[in-house]
Amino acid sequence: MSFDAAGGSTLRFRRVGIVGVGLIGGSFALALKTVKAVDTVVGFGRSRANLDTARKMGVIDQIATGWDDIEGCDLVLLAVPVGQLPEVMPVIAPRIGKDTVITDAGSTKRDVVLYARAALGNALPRFVPAHPIAGAEKSGAAAARPNLFVGRPVVITPIEETDPFAFKRVRATWQLTGAKTLRMDVAMHDMALAATSHLPHVLAFAMMNEIAHRPQAEAMLSLTGGGFRDFTRIAASNPEMWRDICLANRDSLCNEIDAFSARLAQLRHLIAMGDGPALEREFESARVARDALTATLNAGARPRD
Ligand code: NAD
Repeated sequence: MSFDAAGGSTLRFRRVGIVGVGLIGGSFALALKTVKAVDTVVGFGRSRANLDTARKMGVIDQIATGWDDIEGCDLVLLAVPVGQLPEVMPVIAPRIGKDTVITDAGSTKRDVVLYARAALGNALPRFVPAHPIAGAEKSGAAAARPNLFVGRPVVITPIEETDPFAFKRVRATWQLTGAKTLRMDVAMHDMALAATSHLPHVLAFAMMNEIAHRPQAEAMLSLTGGGFRDFTRIAASNPEMWRDICLANRDSLCNEIDAFSARLAQLRHLIAMGDGPALEREFESARVARDALTATLNAGARPRD
């Protein structure tokens, strides 16, 4: 897997529409403003309080007065939870200008492409699906920051209908945020992310609930060290967003949950049997793999998540 060469330093947009001005949408807007790639950012959202915060913070310049404001945008980013896209795409589709490019930030891609094919009509070739592998357990415009994508991978998953010019424009735009872009097939993206992102979130939610709902929870949680805190940090993530991701990628995620359950059952068996040498071999193999990942991350060959 290799990252694309950077480019697009002269790219500039007159009006960028951010649909969903949260952590991701807000950070994208701030990043483009930082490199002066946009004159005006218009925010579309469902929470007035969040949009007011975004405007006060300078994340957006204007709050959209209605969906018709999509018409004047030459770039649109869809950054709502993926489960909202079947509602949002048909509303924006007839308002997308003929030269406007559209991208998204959804953590799953197969469902997003299905929705786009169903809703975007003539604008479909100018929709370039993307997923920034960057984020945090915080949400909303107040969590946005201009450097969120710096050095991080952004996976771009063009489909057969994608116009090559729109692809290049969107790729160059994500690169302007400081991200490293890479191109990937939709199915490969969803399978890989089920294992490396969606499963860890499900495990963190399960672990947190398992302890928090016990009668002795308070006493137990007072004894948490770095391990528990590191492991469960992502359990503080946005529940709506993660509900949508898990449902959208349910087949791949269920496969990963099954594979993980089998591995956990194997460890349980070794522990129950008191098989120290086999247990140590398992742990050693994981340690070697984790050390190699740390070395790769430190060398900058692959940006940290
Ligand atoms: P967020 O909750 O911070 O922001 C989402 C915003 O969308 C909110 O401001 C919400 O009010 C708005 N919204 C929801 N429904 C809407 C609708 N129907 N119309 C208009 N606005 C609506 O979430 P986020 O973390 O910025 O995630 C946005 C997208 O980015 C999601 O699709 C998610 O899968 C993806 N993503 C998130 C992360 C992460 O770590 N948070 C990482 C990569 C990709």
